[in-house]
Amino acid sequence: MEKIAFIGLGNMGSPMAANLLRKGFDLTVFDLSASAMDTLAALGAKSAASAQDAVATADIVLSMLPAAHHVESLYRNILPRLKAGTLAIDCSTIDAATTRRLAQDLSAHGVALLDAPVSGGTAGAAAGTLTFMVGGTAHDLARAQPLLEAMGQAVFHAGESGAGQSAKICNNMLLGILMAGTAEALALGVKNGLDPAVLSHIMSKSSGRNWALEVYNPWPGVMANSPASRAYSGGFMSSLMLKDLGLARDSAQAAHANTPLGALAYALFEKHVADGNGAKDFSSIQQHYD
Ligand code: NAD
Repeated sequence: MEKIAFIGLGNMGSPMAANLLRKGFDLTVFDLSASAMDTLAALGAKSAASAQDAVATADIVLSMLPAAHHVESLYRNILPRLKAGTLAIDCSTIDAATTRRLAQDLSAHGVALLDAPVSGGTAGAAAGTLTFMVGGTAHDLARAQPLLEAMGQAVFHAGESGAGQSAKICNNMLLGILMAGTAEALALGVKNGLDPAVLSHIMSKSSGRNWALEVYNPWPGVMANSPASRAYSGGFMSSLMLKDLGLARDSAQAAHANTPLGALAYALFEKHVADGNGAKDFSSIQQHYD
């Protein structure tokens, strides 16, 4: 059985790694947080003292880190310890240019890199129902497929290296716009005397229906399991949504694409994070309308 090293056990990485363990994969884990490693060790993972130690005997490396600079510094750090023939799968959301550059540098050492960012949120990570958007070769994806299927229910080959990140950034720009739009509509309804649960139900059966409204409702109490109903804790941090909207803005500039709604969503989340809400789930943009 191939040995897996999993680096980055946060809101997403921890439940993803737990699913791999449940499916019987041989996992060594590393995170800067010792308590995150303890949780996985209790499920049967081996804990490593450093990222370099985690990958020392690995055939496949999985990473789930916040942003491009974390991913870049991780792979620069572990590269000397990776044996030729290792497959690296980065599930973090980062820019396509960094992914492509890293893929080239790793390839010079005989290490293949797939970009495989995910959609589905922490609930999808826990349930093993994530969507993976993969960039890289079909050959490398075939090797990764059993792992990805253990953590998700849909695996798409978006294209060459970086294509998974390009797809993810389009998706998350739309998600940021949809979440802000949903919060705005709910706030308007409540100001007009409507019950947010009744309004949510009406819109979910009408043409305004969308994922933010139906699966991740931003109004506290409307949906028992959404981050809004636990004071916007856990989930997908506003600072990470701001990062993704920044990636969308940069990619639009580079491609000369016109993304005015993406720019508006960026401005809303920029203010929201500047107001001290960076660590709250991104559906807390609802509070911007208070
Ligand atoms: P998080 O901040 O909860 O977790 C990141 C983890 O990485 C933390 O546990 C941190 O300690 C660890 N870490 C950072 N630097 C490290 C290093 N050098 N070595 C080892 N560990 C290190 O973030 P998250 O919500 O799990 O998101 C991870 C990625 O997934 C981000 O790129 C995010 O945009 C993306 N994403 C998140 C969600 C979501 O709903 N949370 C959904 C889809 C995609």
